[in-house]
Amino acid sequence: MSSIHLPVRIEFGLDSSITIGSEFRSLKCSKVMVVSDKGVINAGLLDKILKSLADAKVESVLYDNVVPDPDVKCVEQARDFYISERCDGILAVGGGSSIDTAKAAGALITNSEPIVSMGGMGKVKNPLPPLIAIPTTCGTGSEVTNVTVVTDEYHFKVPIISPYLIPKVAVLDPNLLTSLPPSLVAATGMDALTHAIEALTNKLENWYADMCAIKAIEMIGKAIRPAAAGGNVKALSEMLYASTLAGISFTLSRLGLVHAMSHPISGFAGVPHGVANAILLPYVMSFNLVGNPEGYALVAKALGIVGRSGVLETAKAGVEEVIGLNHQLGIPKSFKDVGVKENLFPQMITDTFKSGNVAINPRRVSEKDVEIIYQASFAGD
Ligand code: NAD
Repeated sequence: MSSIHLPVRIEFGLDSSITIGSEFRSLKCSKVMVVSDKGVINAGLLDKILKSLADAKVESVLYDNVVPDPDVKCVEQARDFYISERCDGILAVGGGSSIDTAKAAGALITNSEPIVSMGGMGKVKNPLPPLIAIPTTCGTGSEVTNVTVVTDEYHFKVPIISPYLIPKVAVLDPNLLTSLPPSLVAATGMDALTHAIEALTNKLENWYADMCAIKAIEMIGKAIRPAAAGGNVKALSEMLYASTLAGISFTLSRLGLVHAMSHPISGFAGVPHGVANAILLPYVMSFNLVGNPEGYALVAKALGIVGRSGVLETAKAGVEEVIGLNHQLGIPKSFKDVGVKENLFPQMITDTFKSGNVAINPRRVSEKDVEIIYQASFAGD
């Protein structure tokens, strides 16, 4: 059984974000809450977008208190702001943190339950106000996904999953990525690669998702280094497109152990999502290989590996390729390097098993396995 439900229009192109005013006009919105963060604003990314809204006679107010790994307070504040300003539409401009804040605030506006009570699948009962997303990183794919992630008071990253969370329109404007520093291109790009690899290799079968995932892996494998080197709009365009494809793939086919283990790392130790995924990815791939060697061989081939004898050898070469990518992109080698403390492991192991992505991981996984992977990725072995 598999299903394809993608109720989002995707607009891609240089300067596509400056058509945003007419997008909201056609949605019959007259006052839009723009959700973003200080980094995006300081990079000057909102100027032309706000002008486009004003030119189309769409009023806008700015909610700019988005924090990384948005928490309950952040998304409730955004909801309260929308209501007090009597808005009738939402525009998210930023990375996954801004888009997820906009989605969660939207869910709170039309649903009476607390946000964490909507955690899991299918608990958002009513559609959101009209929501358009403009991503400015090349990672999360949140502009097309059916999920928002909100950190609760216990540092647990609660995934809220519903087709209502898919934005009406995703506007992909590669020009907005030119201000991204190399470290963010690298980290968010490795996040997108992780999405595609997990969606392709986990236990769920969805050919459309696989097709998007393979294309995303191919594009990221070729574009991530030149994009992170700076000044290459073509490579950034490819990364942006690929991260959206990867988002489609995991919306249809979900994820795996990397995400189950990286969410506690971000929730407890504040390691950025992309960095946490990038550090864990080769360790989890190595562990998972025997669970789905054919799937990981496909990953390797999409990354450009040729000429290995046998499926397992090809799959292993894919892991080496990912290790090499992390190294060339300057991703920290271990969790020790980014300030994670070993005494957090017991709680992180417990939280890993709260994720639905463990059950669909290509290889059965025990608490001991997770502990070994955390320890190895802590030490950088
Ligand atoms: P982010 O949104 O947290 O942004 C990271 C930093 O990059 C911020 O300081 C921001 O100001 C800055 N930034 C963003 N765009 C910039 C630009 N063009 N120029 C300069 N600076 C820029 O990072 P992210 O990795 O995109 O998002 C991570 C969040 O997304 C996490 O909370 C994660 O859980 C969530 N996520 C959501 C989904 C989903 O489908 N909903 C999927 C994966 C991750």
